[in-house]
Amino acid sequence: MIRGNDPILLTPGPLTTSLATKQAMLRDWGSWDSAFNAMTASLCKDLVDVVHGAATHVSVPLQGSGTFSVEAAIGTVVPRGGRVLVPQNGAYCQRVLRICKYLGRAAVELPMPEDMQATGKMVAEALDRDPAITHVTQVHCETGTGILNPLHDIAAECAARGKGLIVDAMSSFGAIDIDVRNTPIDALVAASGKCLEGVPGMGFVVLNRNTLEKCAGNSHSLAMDLYDQWTYMQKTTQWRYTPPTHVVAALRCAVDQFIAEGGRPARQRRYQASCDTLIAGMEALGFKTFLPRAIQAPIIVTFHAPADPAYRFADFYQRVRERGYILYPGKLTKVETFRVGCIGAIDSNEMRNVVSAVAEALKDAGIKQVAPARQSAAA
Ligand SMILES: *Cc1c(COP(=O)(O)O)cnc(C)c1O
Repeated sequence: MIRGNDPILLTPGPLTTSLATKQAMLRDWGSWDSAFNAMTASLCKDLVDVVHGAATHVSVPLQGSGTFSVEAAIGTVVPRGGRVLVPQNGAYCQRVLRICKYLGRAAVELPMPEDMQATGKMVAEALDRDPAITHVTQVHCETGTGILNPLHDIAAECAARGKGLIVDAMSSFGAIDIDVRNTPIDALVAASGKCLEGVPGMGFVVLNRNTLEKCAGNSHSLAMDLYDQWTYMQKTTQWRYTPPTHVVAALRCAVDQFIAEGGRPARQRRYQASCDTLIAGMEALGFKTFLPRAIQAPIIVTFHAPADPAYRFADFYQRVRERGYILYPGKLTKVETFRVGCIGAIDSNEMRNVVSAVAEALKDAGIKQVAPARQSAAA
């Protein structure tokens, strides 16, 4: 892996990519060229295989960041008269609610605290209270905090009631186990620049083929119509409209490395080791995680800000950056936090260096009271 002087991104997309992935972008591809279209087709097949969907699902790629694909999935799968339940425990769940509002799809919010999982039971009760609900949109790993929601249980409750299920699996796809053979999902949304470790610029939606076949005419938007993108691609092997060619080539290369590493289980093991090393090191410095370990995904960790009056995020960020690492600000409204991503082409050795950099930054900034205010008051 070549670093040069570039800092390591501890942000959950864009993230640090391997040299091979970067080098895969050194060619220009024609969108009509059969070699490029064969690359897209092989990529779509491999993406479906990540979630064991070969017999039932297809993958439809879409230009844009991940949010574009979430919006496209909701707009394509939910008919205009549909009604969407949104279990809400963080920033990306709130984004789903905003999308529904923009698209004119009725949404029912099921709010819960940001440190509490959405459970199958809660979803089942909400569905039984409001039988007019047609679909559930569930964020799998809520990247706002790093909480993992129990997708399998939620999918089972949806299926038992004949409700459609759209999953924002942006920050879990490729790392956390999702098996559509026993977890019924209509649409599973992810993107190039997350756990597959490609560069940002495209999303994709793994859709149940039977569901997708019934989606003609649902979408409010031409550019965001996944049904149209899929039927066009089937007819011509091409993307509708200019494809992000370099992003596709980088993702193809990144997925080759993913497969060579040992696929999804190996990726999860690497992220888990990085996450464990990070948390152990940070706790030894006095930091406290926002979430209890049992509901923490090995994707991104939210830490409470130190109680010390010398702490300012911008200053702390700059000091850590000078040592080669890019932290991520917190996304919580009620408590001051910052986040550290565990995903990208890094490992637990790098995480040891991250902890050292944080320790030096604390020392330089004169931050002695590292524990958050509440904990230090109790101590
Ligand atoms: C990254 C992410 C998205 C997409 O965000 P973009 O900024 O559009 O790439 C959506 N949902 C979750 C849970 C994410 O982590």
